[in-house]
Amino acid sequence: MSIVSFRDVSKTFGSHPVLRNVSLDIEEGQVVAIIGPSGAGKSTLLRCVNQLERHSTGEILIDGTPIGGNQRKRDLIRLRQTVGMVFQSFNLWPHLSALGNVMEGPVTVLKTPVAIARQQAEALLKQVGLADHAAKYPGQLSGGQQQRVAIARALAMKPRVMLFDEATSALDPEMVQEVLRVMESLAADGMTMLVVTHEMGFARKVADRVVLMANGQVVEEDAPETFFTNPKEERSRAFLSRVL
Ligand code: ADP
Ligand code: MG
Repeated sequence: MSIVSFRDVSKTFGSHPVLRNVSLDIEEGQVVAIIGPSGAGKSTLLRCVNQLERHSTGEILIDGTPIGGNQRKRDLIRLRQTVGMVFQSFNLWPHLSALGNVMEGPVTVLKTPVAIARQQAEALLKQVGLADHAAKYPGQLSGGQQQRVAIARALAMKPRVMLFDEATSALDPEMVQEVLRVMESLAADGMTMLVVTHEMGFARKVADRVVLMANGQVVEEDAPETFFTNPKEERSRAFLSRVL
C-alpha cells in the first residue's frame, strides 16, 4: 500500500512550470531520497505533500485519499498531522524550551493532556540524543541540536510520513552527521520518509530508492546501488559526475 502517491502531478507558478507530470509511489516503511540540481522542483514536490503549495493538475493521494481541491480546514489540519516536515532552517519557537517546542503541537492541536505530552516529549528528546538539553532554549543549542529538536517536534505529532527538505544543508560540517544518524535510526525503525538531500552517502546507504529530479521532472528512479554505480540516464551521469 502506498502512503504517498503522485499521479501525473504538475505545478506551475504563474506560467512557469515547476513540476511536470510527476508520478511516484512511496510505500509504507520506505525511504525515498530525492536528489537533483537546485531549481529542479524538489522542495515544491515536498511542499505539495502537506499542501504548503497546491499542485495544479494531477493527483496526490495520502493513504489512498486525494488531497488538494476544495479541502476543508479540518482535513488540512489532519493532513499536516499525518505528514511531518523538517526544513533546512529549523524554525523552532525561540521563546520555548526544547521540551516546550516538542510539547506545543500535541497540547494545542492534538489536545493531549500536558502531563502526557511532557512524558512523550521527554522520550522523543531522548530518542534524538537530547535528554540532557530539554530545558534549554533554541538560542542555547547548536544548529545540529536545534535540528534534532525539530525532528522530535515533528515526530510528536505521530506522523505516518516524514518529509525532510535539505535538513542538514544549513549545518556546519561537524554537525551534519549527528542529524543524519537520527534520520538513519528513524529509517531503521520503519518510518516512511521522503528525503531531499545533497548527502549522497546518506542516499546510498539509507534510501530504498533514489529519485533524480531535474527541470520539474523525474529523470530516473532506481535502487541506490544501481543509481550510483550504473545510472541509466545521461542526465544522471552528468549530475553524479558533479556531486561525487
Ligand atoms: P529545488 O528545491 O529543487 O531547488 P524548488 O522547488 O525550490 O526547487 O523550485 C523550483 C522552481 O520553482 C524554481 O525555479 C523556483 O524559482 C520556483 N519557485 C519555487 N517557489 C516559488 C514560488 N513561491 N513562486 C514562484 N516560483 C517559485
Ligand atoms: Mg529546495
